[in-house]
Amino acid sequence: MDLPNLSIASLGGTVSMQARVFGEGVVPTVSGATLLASVPELRTLARVTVETLQLLPSASLSFEHLLSVLRWANTQIELGAVAVVLTQGTDTLEESAAFFDLLWDHDEPLVLTGAMRSAAQTGADGPGNLLDACQVGLAESSWRRGVQVVMNGQIHSAQAVRKTDSMALQAFSSPVVGPAGLLLEGDVHYFHPPRQRHVLPLPQRSTHKVALLQASLSADSLLLENVLALGYDGLMIAGFGAGHVSETWAGKIDAIARKIPVIVATRCDCGPTARSTYGFKGGEMDLAKRGASMAGFVCPRKSRILLWLLLGCQRQDDLARYLRLLQY
Ligand code: GLU
Repeated sequence: MDLPNLSIASLGGTVSMQARVFGEGVVPTVSGATLLASVPELRTLARVTVETLQLLPSASLSFEHLLSVLRWANTQIELGAVAVVLTQGTDTLEESAAFFDLLWDHDEPLVLTGAMRSAAQTGADGPGNLLDACQVGLAESSWRRGVQVVMNGQIHSAQAVRKTDSMALQAFSSPVVGPAGLLLEGDVHYFHPPRQRHVLPLPQRSTHKVALLQASLSADSLLLENVLALGYDGLMIAGFGAGHVSETWAGKIDAIARKIPVIVATRCDCGPTARSTYGFKGGEMDLAKRGASMAGFVCPRKSRILLWLLLGCQRQDDLARYLRLLQY
């Protein structure tokens, strides 16, 4: 039987980690090929190409790394792969998934997965997650959905998924909307048809910077005041509740928003920013009048990625439209 071509790359993370010396903690050492060897049944499903593109803890992945991974993944599709699967650390997986999703210009699926237990640990979840991710990649129902995250038997859409537990096996969830689908008895089952996608052009530069500041009780405004002087090209604020900041912070927003795009999202784990509820100084209505864009359901980290990508292709004037397109 002619098997489909499937390309897998590993970028590091817990899924690739083992202790070099007992008691010293795990570090990324396991290559993509070794990972693949832990899932022998994959060879019966696809003709697999495997690469180790990075061996990094995901906290140390950069946008430049992701752009080079994207170039590799694009080439795999051009060479005839029906899907690309990436394994990486779970700490930043929600961000790389959103990043890739905004740039993935193929009908074929790009699937991200990882593990919460390292390769050497009893009950390691990496092999099972990798097999699930490949099954999602190979399913026809995954086409035209952009990027999916597959963890612990669930499929999450790249724009909705968040890491909501730091250590549990069930580390990922999609607040408000729930998972996009499940793996059931080896079948890939989606709950809804694909949504329309909005792919951005590739960034023409990568040196620009978007600051992310989180509002917190009685916070000083030193960093906020210096955002322009420090040369930031955009500002992302993770605001209180429905997208709010203190009166002191609110008073600084107008001057910043006149120079660079400012987005306010909620620092809450679930729910959107408001639009027309609160009129106090620092409330969402006031911040919008001062020139900030409200992120709605898009979380601070994914809003920052959107803004970074828009700045990279000089589409920052489209920010409000893209934020609208990403709402549920
Ligand atoms: N729990 C994380 C992981 O799954 C830690 C390391 C990382 O993100 O690279 O991979």
